[in-house]
Amino acid sequence: MELLIENLSKTYGNGVQALDNVSLHIPTGMFGLLGPNGAGKSTLMRILATLQEADSGSAMLGDINVLRDKDAVRRVLGYLPQELGVYPKVGAYEMLDHIALLKGVTARGERKDLVEALLKRVNLWDQRKRRLSGFSGGMKQRFGIAQCLIGQPKLIIVDEPTAGLDPGERNRFYNLLTEIGENVVVILSTHIVQDVRELCGNMAIINKGRLLYAGPPDTALQELKGKVWEKTIAKGELEGYAAGGKLISHRLSAGSPVIHLLDSAAPGEGFHAVEPSLEDVFFGAINIGNAQPAA
Ligand code: ADP
Repeated sequence: MELLIENLSKTYGNGVQALDNVSLHIPTGMFGLLGPNGAGKSTLMRILATLQEADSGSAMLGDINVLRDKDAVRRVLGYLPQELGVYPKVGAYEMLDHIALLKGVTARGERKDLVEALLKRVNLWDQRKRRLSGFSGGMKQRFGIAQCLIGQPKLIIVDEPTAGLDPGERNRFYNLLTEIGENVVVILSTHIVQDVRELCGNMAIINKGRLLYAGPPDTALQELKGKVWEKTIAKGELEGYAAGGKLISHRLSAGSPVIHLLDSAAPGEGFHAVEPSLEDVFFGAINIGNAQPAA
């Protein structure tokens, strides 16, 4: 199963073009959709999850026409939105049992086996009687994965799943996603570079609705090799570098700006070459637009 997206575009009523001719080939496994806030990630996710219409383009999941045959998509889709909405004051077991029933698992014995297996799989078995309203952020996300696994989905979409999770919760969630991603298409939309670095064999970077890069993270890193230069500068110098069109990023270290520049040769006095990171790939694509879309 693979997902083929061709020339997808979407402009909202207020004139914002959220997707501009996006084409992507998404194979089985974990696929990271990386972009800053407002890039168009949720719009793309919602269109693929049949919750929103595209203006033009196509998306095929195997032989299912995603934009036209919505019922067929919904039968094989697991969707974990940014916010699952209200977390009611009912226990995790009870809620999952209820959702399984709504999703058509009507046989009582089958549903019991399924709910038990899912709660164990997402490591919430010991919490099964606890009210969802009292769950931590990480527990809510793991519950979200359990509900989206009902019906053995072929396409799983998770939208910004690790925002607000502490490092321990994030790790538990990563491990869970990695297990799931072995046999299905999992699209992980995120603005957190670490999510993609740790999880995804393939990724895309989008900004302002446009695709800036598609391919394996390793390939993107390879392309930057020997071209990322670092220097600690004085605060007053930052503006000049920003205007120069080569500034990948800047951060503060002990109060002084540390900059990364993109250049094929040493840009000047005081710069040293650094090993490119996925942050350099991401911010380079966003701020300079250097990354080339892979075929
Ligand atoms: P992301 O998920 O990457 O943060 P979104 O897809 O939510 O990006 O948003 C992309 C752009 O479309 C943003 O400029 C956002 O303000 C705009 N947008 C999103 N939803 C709507 C909407 N329902 N109506 C109008 N504009 C919207």
